[in-house]
Amino acid sequence: MSYLISGESGDWEVVIGLEIHAQIVSQAKLFSGAATAFGAGPNTQVSLVDAAMPGMLPVINEYCVEQAVKTGLGLKAKINLHSVFERKNYFYADLPQGYQISQYAEPIVGEGTVVLDMPDGETRDIGIERLHMEQDAGKSLHDQDPKRTFIDLNRSGVALMEIVSKPDLRSPEEAGIYLRKIRSILRYLGTCDGNMEQGSMRADVNVSVRPAGSDALRTRTEIKNVNSVRFVMQAIEHEAERQVEAYEAGGEVVQETRLFDAAKNETRPMRAKEYAHDYRYFPDPDLLPLVLADEDVERIRKSLPELPDDKKARFVSDYGLSAYDAGVLVAERETADYFETAAKGRDAKQAANWVTGNLFGALNKAGKAIAESPVPPGALGGLLDLMADDTISGRMAKDVFDEMFETGKDPAAIVADKGLEQITDTGEIEAVVARIIAENPDQADDVRSGNDKAIGWFVGQVMKATQGKANPKMVNDLLREKLGG
Ligand code: MN
Repeated sequence: MSYLISGESGDWEVVIGLEIHAQIVSQAKLFSGAATAFGAGPNTQVSLVDAAMPGMLPVINEYCVEQAVKTGLGLKAKINLHSVFERKNYFYADLPQGYQISQYAEPIVGEGTVVLDMPDGETRDIGIERLHMEQDAGKSLHDQDPKRTFIDLNRSGVALMEIVSKPDLRSPEEAGIYLRKIRSILRYLGTCDGNMEQGSMRADVNVSVRPAGSDALRTRTEIKNVNSVRFVMQAIEHEAERQVEAYEAGGEVVQETRLFDAAKNETRPMRAKEYAHDYRYFPDPDLLPLVLADEDVERIRKSLPELPDDKKARFVSDYGLSAYDAGVLVAERETADYFETAAKGRDAKQAANWVTGNLFGALNKAGKAIAESPVPPGALGGLLDLMADDTISGRMAKDVFDEMFETGKDPAAIVADKGLEQITDTGEIEAVVARIIAENPDQADDVRSGNDKAIGWFVGQVMKATQGKANPKMVNDLLREKLGG
């Protein structure tokens, strides 16, 4: 899957790296006991530490550290037993400390790998450079008053993980798949809710371009704080095209921070990029280096749930699903659990088809998540059973499913109420078959003279005569027997 931009001078390749800020799921902030609930009134969740009152001291939240380690393990990354919090100095109205406590030279998590599931069923490995912990800043509210800006410090001090990828991504699509995969892993782990609309996950996107086939990296720009997968993909597309145009017009790309404007579909400069040395990083004298024991890491490792990649491999080997179907089913833990409940002791491939086909279609149309499905997994399993024992045909099952989705009723009850039981009595079907053949001698001759397609017409007539209740396979067999088709 190669994504190239064709310019006047030839083809250009896009090089992308993502820095994802993920809010850690935790009741309290990284260095204070203040609450982190979303949607609270402004400045109601602010401790003296978060407001940076003089003399206040940060105290590390052990649970947040565990969450970061858990995430590192989920990213198959190296856990650093010794890491250091540093001050990243800058001024901003919603940063009362005048610095952000972050990790720089010694992050808690080192290199790792994320496996992307590509649409063609193949996989692609993307390198993780590091994961570090840091505090979030407060929020400036510009829309409350025509003349003044207000500051809400609820978010000040909330724990973040910054997950930095290597520049391994090569197309907007790959970046989208990567972001979704990271979100899936974080949700499985329960370390971040991945809710991009609420800002608990946002991405800084580094983009550069180079002539196809070249190995050298060119100057990159950074698009800040993009808050949806779709916007990340669009921002990359526009920024890459802008850079190609700049080079081809004989110009340059300057290292800078840019903003993606989704309404105008363009990126535009925000500020000249700071370099690391501009921040005057130094170890925070209020915090000791963070030291973990091997036993701590092992204990956390043992607590990890089965993650999407392992689950996918198991779905392929245990249920015989294709890599693609397995990938779709494991993307969300709720979907995977739903499938396994519905498939238990049944034809797993058929269950997978019903989940990814009819169920997903109906949920999509109704704008519902799988957790809100009016059809619980056991009921879908019951529907599969009714097909397996020939009570209803596959064709009828679709109607029964629609009714289940609409009313939440049990499939067996719907079939009984509506008298939808399939006719599997040979004598009954035979009588109808004989009558239809007798009524249509010309078509019957047609089949007898070798026109195999004409038999389909007879199947249709018999199904019509039985209001679709005759078992289609039996109808087919009987017709072939009588007409020698
Ligand atoms: Mn950061």
